[in-house]
Amino acid sequence: MERPGSPTKIYFMLYIPCPHCGLRNETEFHYGAEAGIAYPDPYVLTDSEWAKYLHIRANPRGWFAERWVHFAGCGRWFNLWRNTITHEIGPAYLPFTTQPKVPGDTIAGQEDPRA
Ligand SMILES: [Zn+2]
Repeated sequence: MERPGSPTKIYFMLYIPCPHCGLRNETEFHYGAEAGIAYPDPYVLTDSEWAKYLHIRANPRGWFAERWVHFAGCGRWFNLWRNTITHEIGPAYLPFTTQPKVPGDTIAGQEDPRA
């Protein structure tokens, strides 16, 4: 039962650390899917392997490396650790650089569906 005047939904705003511009409001960014997925040569893959590349991602519970673009700022792509359960933001880093260590533990028992 809800009390009169109580909010029915609570929204949280993420503050995302762009490596070029610093901490900014999430409305300035677009999500770009899982980080670190290399583009394969489509001519050497089977249809099944190509479909797997296009549609299957790890989607874990817990810390996850993601691609983001700061479309309302510098317009650059970068990678970011984000906890998919708590939305806690971890370190941001540039593509093709050394990935920082996972900020926390992932939930045990998660399997990589691409394996
Ligand atoms: Zn930026």
